[in-house]
Amino acid sequence: MTSEAAIKIIYTPRILVVDDEARIRDACRLVLEDCGYGVCVASTGTKGLELIREQHFDIILLDLMMPELSGLDVLPEVKAQHPDTVVIVITGYATLEHSVDAMKKGAFDFIPKPFTPEHLRVTIARAIEYTRALRDIADSRSRLRTLVNRISDGVMCTNHGHRVALANPAFLRMIGCAAESVIGRGVDDFIYIPRICEMIREASANNDVEASELIEEIPVNGHGQSEEMILNVRCVPFRDRTGRNIGVITVLHDITTLKKMDRMKSEFVSMVSHEIRSPMNSVLMQIQVILDGLAGELSEKQRDILTRAFQKIENLAHMTTELLDLARIESGLITLEREPVAMADVIRDQVAFHFPMAVSASIEMVIDIPETLPLVLANRRNMEEVLSNLLTNAVKYSPGGGRVTVSASIINDYLCIRVKDTGLGISDEDQNRIFQRFYRVKDEKTRYINGTGLGLSIVKSILESHQGRIKIESQPGEGSTFSVFLPILTG
Ligand code: ADP
Repeated sequence: MTSEAAIKIIYTPRILVVDDEARIRDACRLVLEDCGYGVCVASTGTKGLELIREQHFDIILLDLMMPELSGLDVLPEVKAQHPDTVVIVITGYATLEHSVDAMKKGAFDFIPKPFTPEHLRVTIARAIEYTRALRDIADSRSRLRTLVNRISDGVMCTNHGHRVALANPAFLRMIGCAAESVIGRGVDDFIYIPRICEMIREASANNDVEASELIEEIPVNGHGQSEEMILNVRCVPFRDRTGRNIGVITVLHDITTLKKMDRMKSEFVSMVSHEIRSPMNSVLMQIQVILDGLAGELSEKQRDILTRAFQKIENLAHMTTELLDLARIESGLITLEREPVAMADVIRDQVAFHFPMAVSASIEMVIDIPETLPLVLANRRNMEEVLSNLLTNAVKYSPGGGRVTVSASIINDYLCIRVKDTGLGISDEDQNRIFQRFYRVKDEKTRYINGTGLGLSIVKSILESHQGRIKIESQPGEGSTFSVFLPILTG
């Protein structure tokens, strides 16, 4: 026996026959018991109701024309007590009108008298299928409800008109809402964090299947919370069979602790780099004094050793400066001062600045941008750093004779700047890792190229703090294209 079969619960559907004609009751019992169903019978509406109050039936076969309490009187009572019980009415030819009435009151089907055993079996089998489908729906709803209510992330589902269809306790707690239930309420009515409501509307209006998920980190202050909380908010629209947006699922994840730890880490790195930078610079100065011959004549060998020591320490000093930059960006210091920046100027300045470096590496550097580009709200120095890192890498990781092209275009509400090279390229596996701190691709070709593995993580941090992003397309041996996306300044 398979384990699945072992845990399968064998369920016998239970059927009640309510009819004042003993002949019909007996015939039904005979046919239905023969099919393996559990059958009870009642000779009047009153007796039928007594049984219904005591136990649950999957199906009730109910005669409409009974003295005293008719089937039409029994039906509402059944629906009130057991809404999931399927009622099939038994009617005489003359009472077809009544059976229509019964259907209106919630009966599932009707069987006109006289009926054959086969007719009864087919009608009951159809009703059993229906009750199974109902049970499956009820089971999966219950599973979903338990799952959503138990998870620690906040989950809310809204319909096309931004009214709530479902919101779990974690969601209400995170937005600081004290109400027990918000089902049916409009989002603006109880969510006092305007950006979340805007995101729901934006996600719902976006019909682009590929890029319709919105993700943002939102600091939340004072909405019933004693301390500042940082929420990762995701809004994903869901669609009907024709692909039309019919609502939005919003998921909140509390990342306050994660952010605090990250900030502490950045502060620590910043403190350490700051402390070691000064002694390192003074060692560099002293070596330079010796190399300049101010402390006496040097032999060729001594000069050689000191020059190598100087280069190694210089690399270290460079790395501490980059670490300091990264730590500052991550703790949000550098990005504080923002202004409308004309990126076309920044691109031209940076290309001009890196041009001599490209020329000496025998690399052609081409600029291909429109006369003007829309403004972005950014820290100018950060933007220079992004371009400087990408241009330096494009030249550094391209063999002589290659070409670096900088282009720009507008994609939806973003300014997209592309730095394309014809260099070494990056494998799929490395593409996922080069944005991590200190990660450097190590192979025969990159071995002798100096670097710290921090440049791209600085670029990524800067872009994220500007609500932008970076994308890479690359083929080993053919070159790489780094695309930077920055939100265009509107209004
Ligand atoms: P660094 O250049 O100092 O090593 P980065 O963070 O700027 O650090 O880059 C990480 C790694 O990504 C590099 O070591 C290099 O292997 C790879 N890389 C970056 N840009 C390019 C490029 N344009 N072409 C090929 N490889 C690149």
